[in-house]
Amino acid sequence: MDCLFCKIVEGTIPSNKVLENDHVIVFHDIQPAAPTHVLVIPKKHIASMNDVTAEDLPLIGEMHAAAQEAANRLGIKESGYRLINNCGRDGEQTVHHLHYHLLGGARMGALTS
Ligand code: C5P
Repeated sequence: MDCLFCKIVEGTIPSNKVLENDHVIVFHDIQPAAPTHVLVIPKKHIASMNDVTAEDLPLIGEMHAAAQEAANRLGIKESGYRLINNCGRDGEQTVHHLHYHLLGGARMGALTS
C-alpha cells in the first residue's frame, strides 16, 4: 500500500518523533502551522475518521492518551492546545491515514486573524 504515514510507521520515511508506543506515533509536522504542531497517528492503517470501526475505539483512546502525553512532553499541556482531524474532501484531508493535528504554543486566534 502506498501510504506515506505507513512508511513513517515502518521507518522507511524518517520522522522527528515525540513519542512512540505499540499503537501510536506522534511526530512533528514538516509544515508547522503553529509554534508546536505534531501529528498523532495510529500504527494501524485507517484511511480516515469515516473508516473507524467499533473495534478501533480503544485505539482512538490510545491516540487521545498519546496526544495528552505529547502535549505534556512539549510543554503545552497547561497552556492548552487544539486537537484537529481533517476528514475527506471538504475537511481538506491530504494524507489518507487517520491523524490528529495537535497544535499549540500560541493563542490560536492570533494565528488565524
Ligand atoms: O490533515 P491533512 O491530511 O491535510 O494533514 C496532513 C499533514 O501531514 C500536513 O500538515 C503535512 O504538512 C503533514 N506531512 C508531514 N510529513 C510528510 C507529509 C505530510 O508532516 N512527509
